[in-house]
Amino acid sequence: MPYEYDDQNIFAKILRGEIPSTPLFESEHAIAFEDIRPQRKSHLLVIPKGPYRCYDHFVQAASASEQLDFFAAVAKVAAQAGIAESAGGNGYRLITNSGPDSLQEVPHFHVHILGGEPVGPLTAS
Ligand code: 5GP
Repeated sequence: MPYEYDDQNIFAKILRGEIPSTPLFESEHAIAFEDIRPQRKSHLLVIPKGPYRCYDHFVQAASASEQLDFFAAVAKVAAQAGIAESAGGNGYRLITNSGPDSLQEVPHFHVHILGGEPVGPLTAS
């Protein structure tokens, strides 16, 4: 089943500047900002600028240069935040939710970067 993208989601509005946000990082195909409800000391979100609903959609439909730029951006954001081991930090966890079973809230592909303190078990139970 092909993916549909609802451009009224909150991250699409952030990308269009309709909702204010403070970008921490911007590349050709990605931006990053802080999560509004941080779950750990450092909780950052990286999103592609293109209209992709989830990881599966992004990998199927985004160009190779968008994908390369996006995943490089994730590493750069973690380094910029000082949580990547290469930047002297103690590491981080990446999370991306795809679809209903994952409880994805915002239907625009994004990666959570969690760190700055021990993140805890991989899942709640
Ligand atoms: P999901 O469950 O879709 O993987 O995660 C969506 C994340 O987006 C949540 O952690 C939530 O706190 C965050 N979020 C929702 N609305 C906003 C917003 O308007 N601004 C920012 N910065 N984060 C948001």
